[in-house]
Amino acid sequence: MGSCIFCDILAGKSPASMVYEDDLCAAFMDIHPITPGHVLVVPRQHCEGLADLPPELGAHLFQTAQKIGLAIARSGLRCQGLNLFLADGKAAGQQVAHVHLHVIPRFERDGFGLKFPPGYDNLPERAELDIISQKIRRRL
Ligand SMILES: [Zn+2]
Repeated sequence: MGSCIFCDILAGKSPASMVYEDDLCAAFMDIHPITPGHVLVVPRQHCEGLADLPPELGAHLFQTAQKIGLAIARSGLRCQGLNLFLADGKAAGQQVAHVHLHVIPRFERDGFGLKFPPGYDNLPERAELDIISQKIRRRL
């Protein structure tokens, strides 16, 4: 496992501005927030990504993120909407190899957003969607 900053935080060996803790997970402020109020929900168990995250633990992370999102919205922080975001893998933007679910308060013109690839405006044919859906369905 080596050194994992999130495991260190969960063990109390590194500081964090804690928002929530229970037996399965903790939530604390992102030290490099996209907007003020950006929280990370992190399982106590060291899992690198979705492939080794027990599904019931994933469900608990989502429930916790939902609860925290509602609290952010009621907190007085600038929050007209929320993103829940999970980056699974380096190519997806994951920077710490310990699963974490971002809860990001959003507001008009906050400067954050998803960038779409070239060609995004060209909609695929139904036949192409059917082929891709079959590839995925076969592996469920
Ligand atoms: Zn860890």
